[in-house]
This record gives sequence, C-alpha cells and structure tokens, in this order.
Amino acid sequence: MDVHNVELTISAVAPKQYPSGNLPEIALVGRSNVGKSSLTNTLINRRSFARTSSQPGKTQTLNFYQIEQQLYFVDVPGYGYAKVSKVEREKWGQMIETYLTSRDQLKGVITLVDGRHAPTEDDIAMHEWLNYYNIDTLVVATKMDKIAKSKWNKQEKIIRQSLEMSGTEPLVLFSAVSKTGKDAVWDWIEERTK
Ligand code: GDP
Repeated sequence: MDVHNVELTISAVAPKQYPSGNLPEIALVGRSNVGKSSLTNTLINRRSFARTSSQPGKTQTLNFYQIEQQLYFVDVPGYGYAKVSKVEREKWGQMIETYLTSRDQLKGVITLVDGRHAPTEDDIAMHEWLNYYNIDTLVVATKMDKIAKSKWNKQEKIIRQSLEMSGTEPLVLFSAVSKTGKDAVWDWIEERTK
C-alpha cells in the first residue's frame, strides 16, 4: 500500500477507548527494542512517526494508528521489561489479553523477533499464546541487515524451531535499513484487511 495519510487516533488502555467503527486492525507485538517502531515507520514510509525505543516505565497503552482511512495498526506495548513491577506486568498482560481475545476488528497479529538471535522465552510464550487463541499471526524477524545473507537460512530455521512453527506458518525476514521484506509484510496485511 502506498501510504500518505497516517494519524494516531487514540492511545487506549480500556475497551471503551478503542476506536469506534469497523475498520480492520492489525496488531504489532514484540519485546521492547525489537524494532517495532522501525517496522511501523518503514511500512508507512515515515522516518519517525511511531515513537522509537519507548522507555521502560512509561505509561503502557495500545496505540491505534489509522492508515489511509482503511485500517489501523495497533502498537501493543513491548513485553520483557526487567524493570517494571509485577503489578505493572500483570496490568499489561490483562490489557493486551483483553484486546487480543475480544476485539472483532482484529484481523491478524504481527509478532516481531530479533532476527540476530534465537527467540527469547517471552517471544516463545507470546507466540504459543497467539496460537492457542487461534489468532492469525505473521512472524517478522527484524534487523536482518545486521547478519550476513549466508546465515539467513540457518537463522530462519532456528526461529522456526524455537517457535515450533509449521512449514506453512508465514515468516518474513525484514530490515528497516534495506527495506527487505517490506512488500511481503504489506501483502500479508492486505490479504487480511481488504
Ligand atoms: P521498538 O522499541 O521495538 O520500537 O524498537 P525501535 O524500532 O525503536 O528499534 C530499536 C533499535 O534498533 C533502534 O536503535 C533502531 O534504530 C534499531 N533497529 C530497528 N530496526 C532495525 C533494522 O532493521 N536494522 C538495524 N540495523 N537497526 C534496526
């Protein structure tokens, strides 16, 4: 999609704050620093629209970005902060669980993992959880420009194995620097939101 119009419609913590209307939504999840803002900015052709590297301890909200009056990207706050309290973590868990399990407009979830490393325990737990709820998921491995192309296949295998992905489950190798994978991610989104 050629994107010209993007606006942050609302930062929500509770269902009554979610946008009204019936536009389809695609959520993006991943631990902080995985490259979620960079992926979002690449998809919408902006240098710095979505905030990058959100600070641990900051208010955790679901951010709804309306794209071309056609769909929303829903930025789900990153998991895996060591510093937040147990209570914070539980509140965060409830907020995203409510959203991901009860939102009719949600058409798919993009799960980001750092392409340079094996998925973390949090990544694995999140992916398992999405599968358990039968939520349509695309795994995106980020920062691929940081590893040699000769290692991409091996890295993809490691990620697929750790996340126990079947051969047919989609995975895109992505780089916000080279834009590798951008079209494949958009294809996946468009199939679910048209
Ligand atoms: P977020 O916390 O998940 O939103 O992560 P950011 O998008 O802010 O990225 C975290 C850091 O990784 C920043 O310093 C980005 O510049 C860097 N980064 C993100 N994506 C890429 C990528 O594809 N390639 C490279 N080389 N760096 C990236």
